Amino acid sequence: MKGKLIVLSGPGGVGKSTISKELRKDDRFLVSVSYTTRKARENEFEGSDYHFINEREFDELIAKNAFLEYAEFAGSKYGTPRNSVESALKSGKHVLLEIEITGARQVRERFPSAILVFLMPPSWAELKARISARGTDHPERIAARLELAQSEMAAAVEFDHTLINHRVDEVVNGLVALATAVE
Ligand code: 5GP
Repeated sequence: MKGKLIVLSGPGGVGKSTISKELRKDDRFLVSVSYTTRKARENEFEGSDYHFINEREFDELIAKNAFLEYAEFAGSKYGTPRNSVESALKSGKHVLLEIEITGARQVRERFPSAILVFLMPPSWAELKARISARGTDHPERIAARLELAQSEMAAAVEFDHTLINHRVDEVVNGLVALATAVE
């Protein structure tokens, strides 16, 4: 494999998807597009944010061993397509997977050379504010998301690197530096 496999993980609400959107503009990188059984949100598009599929299709992909990793999160399933990631790495591209923590653990086992990056909020107060600001969520849903975020934060120690999300461009530069560093 010529390219580097980078996993970007961190608590829900920390801003991972903003970072991966920004990194999509860099053609040294492939930002993997996951499959999910979740319904598309209003501002999301098939094939660029996710491949939106149903449970049966998801199970078929599991049976075909088409996922490099997959996990369930908040009642929906998410999986990383194996083929596009492997062929990008072979062609010398760096690949970014923006995934939750149990998926990151699976990648670590299957690709020991993967670089695992944990994205931290500048503070717990800031993460709380971001999660609470999602106008569409009910108070119980916000409480559940905060509880989940707290347990996700505890996984940071398992990661190779931690980046603090002060500014999008700083995080993007940090990821580029990790991918392009000479060993
Ligand atoms: P959302 O539904 O908000 O887009 O994503 C929910 C969580 O699923 C986020 O933490 C996101 O990083 C994660 N996720 C997205 N795609 C994948 C994937 O392919 N595999 C895993 N394990 N998690 C994913």
